Amino acid sequence: MDDTKNKIMVVEDEESIRRFINLNLSAVGYEVGEAESGEKALTMLRSFRPDVTVLDLMLPGISGFEVCRQIRKMMPETFVIMLTAKGQDTDIILGLELGADDYLIKPFNPFELIARIKAMLRRRTQFKAGKKVLRCGHLCLDVMANKFFKKGVETELTPTEFALLKMFMENQGKALKRNEILNAVWGENYFGDTKTLDVHIRRLREKLENNPSEPDYIKTVWGSGYRLQAEPDRST
Ligand code: CA
Repeated sequence: MDDTKNKIMVVEDEESIRRFINLNLSAVGYEVGEAESGEKALTMLRSFRPDVTVLDLMLPGISGFEVCRQIRKMMPETFVIMLTAKGQDTDIILGLELGADDYLIKPFNPFELIARIKAMLRRRTQFKAGKKVLRCGHLCLDVMANKFFKKGVETELTPTEFALLKMFMENQGKALKRNEILNAVWGENYFGDTKTLDVHIRRLREKLENNPSEPDYIKTVWGSGYRLQAEPDRST
């Protein structure tokens, strides 16, 4: 992975914005592929194999949401950062629920985009460097093999979900503040709000818990954050 350039696919129908993003990302050494539509993005996905996709939600034809859903299905190991318009909070939540890892609101500073991408790629190399198997109740995270098992059955996690669960497993029983988790998983000085985290927790619970609305593993610490139960009460 270190001997090749990281690849970023930029999906945006507005040419000036697409070029602007490409210019900025190329300048810091990424290999950039441009897609001017959702259709193009989906065909490029297999040939280009991006590490990160920068995805504008407002696209003619196939919507950004549908592209996000397809990317998660076709290439779960890739990261997705959405670009949204100001005031589109419901779009942000929907995009995160469909599997996006992060978002930026337009207009954004290109340095902020680069910082987010770097944090994502760091997240991946962080857990590749590990050599441990982490366990909690019926959950097992094989950090080296990059695999997650629930009751011995392999379950797919996105790279962000994996990093999040790894963090919880390394801090079992400890109440973690939202900002603490955001800084550790999404990068130092994360500028986004806690929506990103809360939606990721919801998705992670759907994968871990027997009953996501009455979680045995990831407990909410009211007004502050979350805690992974060290010895789950009813992990049947
Ligand atoms: Ca657009």
